[in-house]
Amino acid sequence: MHCPFCRYSDSRVIDSRTSDDGLSIRRRRQCPECGRRFSTTETASLSVIKRNGSVVPFSREKIVAGVRKACQGRPVTDGDLAILAQKVEESLRSTGASQLEANDIGLAILPELRELDEVAFLRFASVYQAFENLEDFEAAIAQLRVEDAARPEKG
Ligand SMILES: [Zn+2]
Repeated sequence: MHCPFCRYSDSRVIDSRTSDDGLSIRRRRQCPECGRRFSTTETASLSVIKRNGSVVPFSREKIVAGVRKACQGRPVTDGDLAILAQKVEESLRSTGASQLEANDIGLAILPELRELDEVAFLRFASVYQAFENLEDFEAAIAQLRVEDAARPEKG
């Protein structure tokens, strides 16, 4: 981390604290060259291990793109998708893991998408969980009905 005052190419961390939302780390730094202090805010890196074994940076855009397909024709806005991707990222980061399996991301998307739109949820789940026949859909719908009935604010 360059010193913003003298551009010296190194700095010493004198204090670190995690932000309240857990998404970033604020560090107090001191330049060993000019002795001045400054702060930086760093976002913890999050990467995804793809099924083929390659590692790519986590991307909210990819979540939005994946979910958007399931939301075609549904009353879901780009704003809704952006909020969903943010919630998914927060939920993944809250686990404390810095590397995630592609599978973990699908699992984190499902409950958020279900809150947003049940039809989109079923479409996404059918691809993600590889539904093979009508019985798989019926089982998922039955599960939704049971869980909806247990929620007092609906119905
Ligand atoms: Zn300096």
